[in-house]
Amino acid sequence: MSEPSIFTRILRGEIPSEIIAETDNVFAIRDIAPKAPVHLLVIPKTERYRDVVALAAGDPALLAEVVGLANTLAVEHTGGDFRLIFNTGADAGQTVFHVHAHVLGGGLDEKSMN
Ligand code: 5GP
Repeated sequence: MSEPSIFTRILRGEIPSEIIAETDNVFAIRDIAPKAPVHLLVIPKTERYRDVVALAAGDPALLAEVVGLANTLAVEHTGGDFRLIFNTGADAGQTVFHVHAHVLGGGLDEKSMN
């Protein structure tokens, strides 16, 4: 059995991080190293999907829940507009292989993907 992901450990309360929103299947936290004025992570509670491709293939309804919570939080935190990023694979910058959406907003540079 592999070690639980850092996000599972946060969900269990083993690593401190405020859970800013939660549904039956999905939760959200603030990124510890924000890349934008608003930088949230929306995460399925299950860690069975390593990335968005696996999630889309295995449970598209859960992917839709992730997008829905991202939108709800963006309305609350950025006024509604946001950038949604799923880093997919180590060469693309993915470091945690428990699928999660980056929700970025609040004064983004329109020419930059960061
Ligand atoms: P990835 O690089 O896999 O797309 O995104 C992982 C994200 O998780 C990074 O942006 C990183 O800053 C964030 N992160 C890693 N460890 C922690 C933590 O312990 N707490 C929080 N809130 N975010 C974390």
